[in-house]
Amino acid sequence: MSKKLYLETVGCQMNVLDSEMVVASLRKHGYSLTQDPQQADALLFNTCSVRERAEEKTYSSLGKLKRLKQQHPEKVIGVMGCMAQKDQKLIFERAPYVDLIVGPGQLQQIPELIENVISGNGRQVAVSLGRRDGSVENIKRSHETFDPLRDSEMRPTPFQAYLRIQIGCDKFCTYCIVPMTRGPEQGRPPEQIVAEARILADQGCKEITLLGQTVNSYRFVAEGKTTRLADLLEQLQQVDGVERIKFVTNYPKDMTRELLEAVRDLSKVSPYLHVPLQSGSDRILERMKRGYTVGDYRDMMGRIREIVPNAAISSDFIVGFCGETDEDFQRTVELTKECRFKNSFIFKYSERPGTRGAEMYADDVPLDVKQDRNNELLAVQSAISEEENLQFLGQRVQVLIEGPSKLTLRKGQQDEPLQQLTGRTHCDRIVVFDGNVRQIGQTLPVAIYDATAHTLFGAVVTEEVGPTVYSLQLK
Ligand code: SAM
Ligand code: SF4
Repeated sequence: MSKKLYLETVGCQMNVLDSEMVVASLRKHGYSLTQDPQQADALLFNTCSVRERAEEKTYSSLGKLKRLKQQHPEKVIGVMGCMAQKDQKLIFERAPYVDLIVGPGQLQQIPELIENVISGNGRQVAVSLGRRDGSVENIKRSHETFDPLRDSEMRPTPFQAYLRIQIGCDKFCTYCIVPMTRGPEQGRPPEQIVAEARILADQGCKEITLLGQTVNSYRFVAEGKTTRLADLLEQLQQVDGVERIKFVTNYPKDMTRELLEAVRDLSKVSPYLHVPLQSGSDRILERMKRGYTVGDYRDMMGRIREIVPNAAISSDFIVGFCGETDEDFQRTVELTKECRFKNSFIFKYSERPGTRGAEMYADDVPLDVKQDRNNELLAVQSAISEEENLQFLGQRVQVLIEGPSKLTLRKGQQDEPLQQLTGRTHCDRIVVFDGNVRQIGQTLPVAIYDATAHTLFGAVVTEEVGPTVYSLQLK
């Protein structure tokens, strides 16, 4: 009889992809998914440590399982991902009924670890080496992932998939826990990446999003030959069936002319670049150790506008970082207005124990000031997003149709053939329109007639396919 797995995922696209891999491997061990914790034999939480709130969310979900575990001690409860790597056995102190702690570099062990718990071998912990716990080679090896296992049912849609090209990060921005939880930066071999893209295309995937913490810093060196992201994109352009290639997240300093020329010249590569700025103040960028100045970022924007003028650019910001004054923040607002991002993700600084920022600086911006700055920057960005979207009125865009829009799902009309559908343009803008469920998965032209900050609204353009009508001249 099939065993049931309940899985909750929080955090970034890397976590979504990790969850897909874990489900793929557990399916091979006889598990099928359930949405109901009560039905599950194993319950896994894929966690995030980037902000404190994400961790609290996981502890709150775990808290709800306390009674279930008392009533059913045979159920296996596991914490995987960044929080597992960061807190390790500390998780047992806050949630003693957890059986399993697995860092993001050890996920391939999950089926065996679950078996160990079931066989009565007690709590299981599998984490990678810390950044100071051995030779670079040993640390790297301890963070390897098991990417080739894929599960098409776990994707955002059947036509879209993530593909990891790089693991870890060596940038060590002072606010960020990722280099500690995901280990050293390592590029995957290009042959492996291209082979995986072919598997995805064979499974019906039309859009592939390449993932890396600083994806455009991607490098792979073998036999004296260096492959960079631009080379990889050229190879992926040749994969039949793949229509669109995106890549996130970019690091401003590595947005080279060569890469931008590849984006311009390769028809499948989306003119969409997510390049977080984080702050518009040199003083704060320096404290964050981001490795660039406002001037460097402006130069990069200039390069993008020159080489890929139609590119949509998006950003991340942290407001209220240690020592950020009103003046620093106003510089961020001004630079946001100048850059005219398609959209921005704005976060209130959350101090992370284990980072250089937490060691060196006081988290001295009060929460209400962080909130006010968050609201102000969001309002500025929304106004820009709306103005940028309004430029699409009357235009025709190619939309890869993803499925029913959330709006329709809320109304409970999933079974209706005609309904509101949603999809994205090549430059990653969300489009909502009336369509037919059979159009899901197709790439169709849509004429845009309205726009808000977040959404374009349109109608599918149907070409005239006849019958031709002749008027009869009656005498
Ligand atoms: N590697 C990516 C990069 O360099 O932009 C992003 C990684 S991080 C998971 C995503 C975003 O979370 C960052 O761009 C940053 O804006 C935000 N972030 C990271 N650490 C944070 C912290 N301690 N507090 C608030 N936001 C944070
Ligand atoms: Fe974190 Fe900076 Fe690395 Fe991005 S580049 S993952 S923000 S350390």
